[in-house]
Amino acid sequence: MRTTEPGPFELARDRILARRPVFDAHVDSIGRALDLEHDLGERGAGQLDLVRAAEGGLGAWVVVAWVDPELFPDAAFERTRAMFRATRQLEARHPDRFRIVGNDEELEAAAQDGCIAGIPGIEGGHAIEGSLENLAWFFEQGLRVMTLVWNNHLPWIRSCEVGAGPDVPAGLSSFGRKVVREMNRLGIVVDLSHAGVQSFYDALEETRAPAIASHSGCRALHDHPRNLDDEQLRRLAANGGVFGVVFYPPFLDAAAREEAKRVRTSACVREIVAPDPAARFLKRQRIMRAKASPMSAERVADHIVHAVNVIGVDHVGIGSDYDGIDWAPEKLEDASCYGHLAELLLQRGFAEDEVARILGDNMRRVFAAATGPGTCAFESQRAALV
Ligand SMILES: [Zn+2]
Repeated sequence: MRTTEPGPFELARDRILARRPVFDAHVDSIGRALDLEHDLGERGAGQLDLVRAAEGGLGAWVVVAWVDPELFPDAAFERTRAMFRATRQLEARHPDRFRIVGNDEELEAAAQDGCIAGIPGIEGGHAIEGSLENLAWFFEQGLRVMTLVWNNHLPWIRSCEVGAGPDVPAGLSSFGRKVVREMNRLGIVVDLSHAGVQSFYDALEETRAPAIASHSGCRALHDHPRNLDDEQLRRLAANGGVFGVVFYPPFLDAAAREEAKRVRTSACVREIVAPDPAARFLKRQRIMRAKASPMSAERVADHIVHAVNVIGVDHVGIGSDYDGIDWAPEKLEDASCYGHLAELLLQRGFAEDEVARILGDNMRRVFAAATGPGTCAFESQRAALV
């Protein structure tokens, strides 16, 4: 039997991952911990758990609380609170491997102790139910990243989707601008994925801290409403921000978008029997992986390369959307796979330190800037968390 020596790209990949530099700006896995009582400390179903994340070199992830506005039209605040609680339960269960952090100092301390850092996040401003007090309350509970809007339009911000009614502003309303300013004051990263184009520019005009688009693609490569065009990328970078490339094939590639549609409307998906939406989603994830013709991870690298060409290597990162997506690219199927992306980027000619910046250091820089000195001190007593 022939044993092969690792090549130069594999050795470079291993050196990068050994530092656990990956900062994944958007991960939805806490939803299944809450709904299906999955222990994310164990290797299990879905796309991310602490075991596979450690294998993949993950140093920090934004633990996203997303509330489906159709399933929970009047309970966004309460359900978000429950997801924050689930995040703390994960920390209590695995204190040696997972720690909630509120600023870069705490992130560094977690890394020194061999812990993966979790940064509580909210996807969609509907969670604050129109109240700045609720926003401040979530901050006290650990909130450090908020995607201003999801696909549902709000009275204070328009999303990237069509179908906004007459009561929805073209971009941010005056209350929406107050939300951004309050996020700056407290020390919460402003996340612009899902925002409508005017909302995107309004928020960048308002924010005094660098912002991110945590999980989107490049519109120049695939014209999808969730993606950013080159001018948006340039404005985000001019603000000091970072563009996180999502792993979701239908956002990255026209053929993959068609393929997802084909499998989703096929009998095997339509006929899924599951006790609740979370279980149903997990089954669909399995079927997509088995039945959809795979999209190469090279396509993720294409979007990264395009963004770097437009705004430079210091303004590009990743936001996989693991467990928020029912399908991932080939060889990027779960959180153990970040190394494969590192290898592809090395093959594309990026230097080791550039790959580390793209995989995490850039996002970490924005997190540090938005949550650092000058913002509201994090004074919560853990015992007082509710
Ligand atoms: Zn999203």
